[in-house]
Amino acid sequence: MSTPLAFGPLQYDSPVADPPVLYACTVHWHVSRFAAPVPCRTFLVRHGSARWSLIDAGCPGCEAALVDAVQSAIGSDGELAYIFLTHGHLDHTAATNDLLARFPTAKVVAHAREVPYLTGELRYSRTRGSGLLYNITKYLMFESTVRVSRDRIVAVRGDGDEATESTAENVLPCDELQAETGICVLATPGHTPGHAAYLHVPSRAVFTGDAFMNLVPMFGRSPAITAPLALSTVSPSSARASIRSLLKRHDWTRAFPAHDAGAITTQGGDMGCGGVSKDALAVAFPG
Ligand SMILES: [Zn+2]
Repeated sequence: MSTPLAFGPLQYDSPVADPPVLYACTVHWHVSRFAAPVPCRTFLVRHGSARWSLIDAGCPGCEAALVDAVQSAIGSDGELAYIFLTHGHLDHTAATNDLLARFPTAKVVAHAREVPYLTGELRYSRTRGSGLLYNITKYLMFESTVRVSRDRIVAVRGDGDEATESTAENVLPCDELQAETGICVLATPGHTPGHAAYLHVPSRAVFTGDAFMNLVPMFGRSPAITAPLALSTVSPSSARASIRSLLKRHDWTRAFPAHDAGAITTQGGDMGCGGVSKDALAVAFPG
């Protein structure tokens, strides 16, 4: 996996700033020699002239290349301020500690309910799922070995979360972070207990992690917007409720899932993928 990676400007609906503020890079997770590699997307958001945030941190095998790609994209004067993690699965967190080492002032941002899975205090394999399938598969494949030091993590509440919901110390309301980065934290539990989506308010683009998936080539049909796979989802019913709560919001027009088939044809630099329009998501999840 020594192929260089590169970020390219992301296509989205709102007028694109010049220079652009949103960038994407696709890495491929070679889960098995018998299966097609899974596209995993990471995103860069520029806020201010030289401060940046990354959304998700890549899959196993991409670590060194992703760190170099981030450095190349933000430039030698750029500062990576935050690494927003949608959740702690290994295909979203693999390069986290490599990035924290390269960018010593960077902090990881995660929903307060997901933080224990990043520090190692909780494990997905010891978390009871609401479905039978998850309670079998959880032992087989999803545990991350990434352990993030608590002092490098900013735990946040989602927009609209009950203020009392996360009573652990040092839990930040998301509006402070939004004032600094333009990014609003949306709690989207279900796939994991503390899964979050991240809404970039100025561009009306929302980065949805595994709240839903769009994996057309892998399943040979189009469109293939689906709820997250039951075998890796703690609570499928909560995951569907989270999709419905996303659809109720009026402040976004286009969503970018982490696993998006539009990215599968990308070679080298990211050619941009259209993500999923709100209309397409509403068609896939009527009612
Ligand atoms: Zn996941």
